[in-house]
Amino acid sequence: MTPPDNNADRPLGLSIRRGILGKCPACGIGNLFRTFLSTHDLCPHCGEEIFHHRADDGPPFFSMFFVAPIVVTVMIIYEGTNSPPIWHHLVIGITLSITLCIGLIRPIKGFFVGVQWAKRMHGFGTSKTADQ
Ligand SMILES: [Zn+2]
Repeated sequence: MTPPDNNADRPLGLSIRRGILGKCPACGIGNLFRTFLSTHDLCPHCGEEIFHHRADDGPPFFSMFFVAPIVVTVMIIYEGTNSPPIWHHLVIGITLSITLCIGLIRPIKGFFVGVQWAKRMHGFGTSKTADQ
């Protein structure tokens, strides 16, 4: 395991892409996530400190932000074309909302970690090797 170079350039687009794909923003090889939404403290491949991220409520907020217009549009179109019973709206709307939110929340969290890492936010620019 090679210690990461904290003075190296951190391209924003590349780190965002790696984060969205669930990979370490520094090396792009190690997995970012330990569980579905919990990140590793250190990258299992390069040892980059990942615990500095502060995604907080951002990923759930933005997943709902993107999913709500999609679900509402689908339900309006479905209502306009079929005039279905109300339970169709409940089943389709809830299922679609949950499925899309679960599908989006992890890439969005990876996006947040990638941005914070590239911009050296919340301690990402100050690791043990940078202090020496
Ligand atoms: Zn890594």
